[in-house]
Amino acid sequence: MKRFRTGLDIGLEIGKVVLEVMLIAVLLAILFSVALAAVAQGQTIPPEVKQATLVALQASDTDGMHEEGFIWGRDAAGNVLIVASKVRPCGKVKCEVTFEAADPNVLAKLAAVDGFEHIHPKGKGKVEWGQPPSVEDQEFAAESPGAINIVVGSKSKLVYFFDGHNITNTIKLKDFLKENK
Ligand SMILES: [Zn+2]
Repeated sequence: MKRFRTGLDIGLEIGKVVLEVMLIAVLLAILFSVALAAVAQGQTIPPEVKQATLVALQASDTDGMHEEGFIWGRDAAGNVLIVASKVRPCGKVKCEVTFEAADPNVLAKLAAVDGFEHIHPKGKGKVEWGQPPSVEDQEFAAESPGAINIVVGSKSKLVYFFDGHNITNTIKLKDFLKENK
């Protein structure tokens, strides 16, 4: 998402966005080549994902200024698998997740992708980060049709479901966490 700040750095920013989108595209190509998958349509969110959401939120809130996210799916045996993303500090004007696996050995077990989730951090001091999915997040979602895409706002305490076009549903974090339990 973009930090609320005017002007400057636009050229640099566009370059960075292109780079990020390329990285994401490469990653997706790899993922979907191993995992075309019976993905996601109408599927409920498994409890493992809610647990991973709590872990990611707690980690995000330690400074409110870095990226936390994960891919979830299934291993070859059909068990839910959480692939935590590498933690990266926010940039000067943007804070975006790349879903690069923190542990390639876990990624190697991923046989099917069900969804992508990341936290939009709460910020620190005068720095605030947008909470709903960003334009880049929606562009990412457009490239992963069939997968569930979720952003959790650490400050807004809202869970946003989205696709390449719209935010399709917004629910309170506490409702998301207790749902199906
Ligand atoms: Zn985002």
